[in-house]
Amino acid sequence: MAEQRRDQRGGRDTRESAGTVGETRRRSVRAEEAHAWGALVATARRTVSDGLVVGTSGNVSVRVGDTVLVTPSGVPYGRLAPTDTVGVDLDGRQVLGTLLPTSELPMHLAVYRSTDAHAVVHTHAVHATAVSTLVPELPSVHYMSGALGGPVRVAPYATYGTEELAENMLRALADRSACLLQNHGTIAYGASLDQAFDRTAQLEWMCRLWLTASSVPGLSPTLLTGEQVAEAGERLRGYGQGERAVG
Ligand code: 13P
Ligand code: ZN
Repeated sequence: MAEQRRDQRGGRDTRESAGTVGETRRRSVRAEEAHAWGALVATARRTVSDGLVVGTSGNVSVRVGDTVLVTPSGVPYGRLAPTDTVGVDLDGRQVLGTLLPTSELPMHLAVYRSTDAHAVVHTHAVHATAVSTLVPELPSVHYMSGALGGPVRVAPYATYGTEELAENMLRALADRSACLLQNHGTIAYGASLDQAFDRTAQLEWMCRLWLTASSVPGLSPTLLTGEQVAEAGERLRGYGQGERAVG
């Protein structure tokens, strides 16, 4: 089990101003939430094992009804146990657990309030973060940007954990399921933890692809048109086994 919430914290913290400390009544974890917490912890651990974050960077959340389960701030994912479940309501009030929720609660809640997301993954993936320092939008080097809703934008820099960062992120996410955060990392959402994770991994892969292709001296990569990306995005809706599968 990870250590319990610290009483003393330095600096301004939006989680306190949301009234999460000492004011809200905690309830016990429901069966569906316990199951979702296990999947959330597995996803968070995968961000580390797949090299998308180092240490306690990044955070993961999953929505169960009107409760959002989130990784606690600054706790190594390997240490998280079922008894560490942290949950907040859509206003950020803590309803489950005693560990302090992720500092990026404003970003996670902004996604849930404005989309039909069921899961959100934030990472500091190295190629994606590198791209976020170079361009305002990831050039369309691959049709898989169609799977994220179109060319991936970069949200302008703001200090981590702030409402300003959440606002910048929301603008960059318009009609997209992922974006880059300038000089910071990635954020992606989906209908499930697996989908949010997969979108993050695809985004990191595309950023690596662009960095690789654009680093050949004297040559620059061909780019797809908006129409080509949109056409691929449309086609990707029917990608895989889907309804065509026969048993
Ligand atoms: P937390 O440990 O508070 O989730 O913060 C990690 C992070 O990536 C902040 O941007
Ligand atoms: Zn971060």
